[in-house]
Amino acid sequence: MEIKNVTVAGSGVLGYQIAFQTAFHGFQVTVYDINDEVLSKAKEKFDILSDSYKQDLKATKEQLDATFKRLSYSSDLGKAVQDADLIIEAVPENPAIKIDFYHKLAAVAPAKTLFATNSSTLLPSQFAHETGRPEKFLALHFANEIWKHNTAEIMGHPNTDKKVFDTIVAFAKAIGMIALPLSKEQPGYIVNSLLVPLLDAATNLWINDVADPITIDKTWMAATGAPTGPFGILDVVGITTAYNINKMAADATGDPLKVKTVEYLKKNFIDKNKLGVATGEGFYTYPNPAYKDPDFLS
Ligand code: NAD
Repeated sequence: MEIKNVTVAGSGVLGYQIAFQTAFHGFQVTVYDINDEVLSKAKEKFDILSDSYKQDLKATKEQLDATFKRLSYSSDLGKAVQDADLIIEAVPENPAIKIDFYHKLAAVAPAKTLFATNSSTLLPSQFAHETGRPEKFLALHFANEIWKHNTAEIMGHPNTDKKVFDTIVAFAKAIGMIALPLSKEQPGYIVNSLLVPLLDAATNLWINDVADPITIDKTWMAATGAPTGPFGILDVVGITTAYNINKMAADATGDPLKVKTVEYLKKNFIDKNKLGVATGEGFYTYPNPAYKDPDFLS
């Protein structure tokens, strides 16, 4: 199984980053999305992204020119996958949209094509049957700002072919990722199995009036040597995501602490457009958050 041509489906927050990273490392990449208008927005985003590659990775003009040459675009699924050795699916985190996508993909993709999902919260076994080729399907999960936070968690379902799994581990390394194979399915993979409970515990301490966010972050940073505390991390993840996760838990359980969290986040953050790094303010203000100040821990 050799991977040369890769199609990335969905050019949103993660999809366009996956496409660019893959092309940067020498693969031919086709970007697929629902229409040409969305694809032209992706092209504009690549220009901005290439500045980050220059700044953070010291990428040269030659490397970036070659990257752009390896990228092509199509809103016709059949054409987008006609030569694909691998398709990486990064369509919205909505089971109905993903199932519909896999049905359409299964009808047009060549038999050789491997399918990988970047889903953060859905398990590959939930979709294996819909792909029509369960043995060639698995999860390949990237982190936001893929070129800097270069983790690739690889997670099969019980019927993923071992050779397919190993091929994707090798592919992940070939596009500059730290390949992190999981031996069995785990909701949240490794990263979110660690991160979600940490952020949840920090939020509970704060909403329960045990300590304020700055004190909690100082504690975590000083005690573990971590460069960022849980509230600094929440600003990067985005307060909207934290709000949505807490809202789902509050609606499902009615837990008074979750209900209080949701009300507090809505009133003091969401309604004030303090959504984290993305809007310049969350628990900290950006671009120079207080926790990066050398005196923060003194
Ligand atoms: P997004 O909403 O930013 O982008 C989704 C893209 O898919 C959009 O460009 C949209 O036009 C396109 N799309 C919609 N329907 C489609 C279809 N039928 N076929 C093809 N494209 C379609 O979403 P995102 O944040 O990039 O997330 C995509 C996937 O990546 C999700 O499964 C998510 O769990 C996962 N993920 C996201 C992050 C993150 O930080 N945002 C991190 C890791 C993994």
